[in-house]
Amino acid sequence: MQMHKYIFKKKFDQYFLKDKNLAKKIVKNLSFQNYNTVVEIGPGLGILTQYLLNNPSHKVFLIEIDKELISFLRKNFSISKNKIIHRDFLKWNPEEINLHNFAIIGNFPYSISSQILFHILEYHQYIPECVGMFQKEVARRITSNKGKKTYGILSVLIQTFYDVKYLFTVKEKVFFPIPNVKSAVITLKKKNEIIYCNKNLLFQCVKTAFNQRRKKLKNSLQLFKYIPNFYKIPFLNKRAEELSVKEFLELTKEIEIRK
Ligand code: SAH
Repeated sequence: MQMHKYIFKKKFDQYFLKDKNLAKKIVKNLSFQNYNTVVEIGPGLGILTQYLLNNPSHKVFLIEIDKELISFLRKNFSISKNKIIHRDFLKWNPEEINLHNFAIIGNFPYSISSQILFHILEYHQYIPECVGMFQKEVARRITSNKGKKTYGILSVLIQTFYDVKYLFTVKEKVFFPIPNVKSAVITLKKKNEIIYCNKNLLFQCVKTAFNQRRKKLKNSLQLFKYIPNFYKIPFLNKRAEELSVKEFLELTKEIEIRK
């Protein structure tokens, strides 16, 4: 099937890359080290997939929601059928197929990029690396630092587990159809040392704090005020946007030990 013959499905956020060199460049950012499996989310017509398959030492799994594309991929790529998975990535659990150490790559469907990232975080212990194309604005948020307008929930939660890098911006015209936003490619690499903390509590703290990002934490985190000595917790006079990732982890620990 040629690209011009395919009818794009808006409901699946289908914007396909046309530029092969760019596809190659994106795949090149995978290190292929310390894992032997790569999972591609939303392979579409397989422009990234073809370069993934150049690495015969690595197993490749594809997860695609669109049935029509699944038959296309099964016909055109020499990957065993059970590795071309017809599924909504957000409902996919890597444990089902015993995957415990794999990288993720994708030109992700933009309308669900936050959910994709939260799904990655849910299984972060299995995912040492991720190379992904996001809407530029989301890529900026993921890689942002304290004090910046774009610093928020995604920045803190992703950077708790991963070192992040904004690689490059991608223009609209390399896609078909042409989207109305710019894109960007970023990498996530699992931190060598992840500071221990209660993950659920961290998520709750970060989300609650950023819901009222300009308020001091002693006000935005009122849901914890029942905790003994709540007002002695450090950082409470700061605002969410002023706290570094490390400080959020410390804050979470302080709440945890008092609970
Ligand atoms: N990787 C291809 C296609 C990108 S478009 C390229 O670069 O050209 C996004 C792709 O994600 C589409 O193929 C779309 O069908 C798929 N997709 C959308 N929602 C999905 C979901 N929830 N789970 C898995 N795939 C999804």
